[in-house]
Amino acid sequence: MSDFTALFRELGIPVTAQRLAVLRAVTARPHSTADVIADEVRSEIGVISKQAVYNALGTLTERGLIRRIQPAGSPALYEDRVGDNHHHLICRTCGMTVDVDCAVGKTPCLTASHQAGFQIDEAEVIYWGTCPGCLAQKSGNDHPTIAKSNVHPTHPTTITHEKSTIKQRQFKEESRSCPPIPHAVSRPKKSPGPSHRGPQPLGWQ
Ligand SMILES: [Zn+2]
Ligand SMILES: [Zn+2]
Repeated sequence: MSDFTALFRELGIPVTAQRLAVLRAVTARPHSTADVIADEVRSEIGVISKQAVYNALGTLTERGLIRRIQPAGSPALYEDRVGDNHHHLICRTCGMTVDVDCAVGKTPCLTASHQAGFQIDEAEVIYWGTCPGCLAQKSGNDHPTIAKSNVHPTHPTTITHEKSTIKQRQFKEESRSCPPIPHAVSRPKKSPGPSHRGPQPLGWQ
């Protein structure tokens, strides 16, 4: 019995070859879109419909085994590093996505200027910029090789945040049912700026 099979049983998720293959694919290709994951799954188990991949991704996300991130202007990305409130660096030029540890160490990481009576439990932080490879290309140098370990360090899959995920989802559902706030500031149409100012990892701009 594989570790994933045991994990599914522990969480009461019905074990299917498709769900197992989808989880393996997300583990092998973190920060991938559903399309990339579907290709990976097909190379492993053969035919699978896109809808079946979406369904499996939905179940695994809901149960806290994987995390879904939704960068502005990009399809959703899935990863298996869960439970640690880490953030992401995304290259505006090539889309490379890199994990970066939580700036503060715990949610919500950022202090809101005012909370409007909300109990805030999460701040989504994405650092937008240019990766070292694209910086080098812009300045006419060769694209340096980036070690895979820098792109997504190995990490154990944990399920410790399952409760907080559920809480966050409930919070989001509640916030969805709120009446629209008059004169709400609409999001500017131009490309997203840095969501958070913080220390920049070496080589990014
Ligand atoms: Zn880049
Ligand atoms: Zn990540």
